[in-house]
Amino acid sequence: MFKNIIAPVQAWLLSKGQCVGCGAPLSKGKVEKKGEGSEKIICKCGRIYILDTKAKKYRRALFEEV
Ligand SMILES: [Zn+2]
Repeated sequence: MFKNIIAPVQAWLLSKGQCVGCGAPLSKGKVEKKGEGSEKIICKCGRIYILDTKAKKYRRALFEEV
């Protein structure tokens, strides 16, 4: 039940390029080139995101990408 409330908030934060955990801007995170069209962003709080450099969209990294 709690998850249903949190998910839209996380999506909203991500759409603004902010960490869903600590709210820090992901543009200030540590960037690692991942390959064609994507970058791995490591937030200061340790959460890992994938940036689609073409669409300029962030998403949470999948387990196998970490
Ligand atoms: Zn964070």
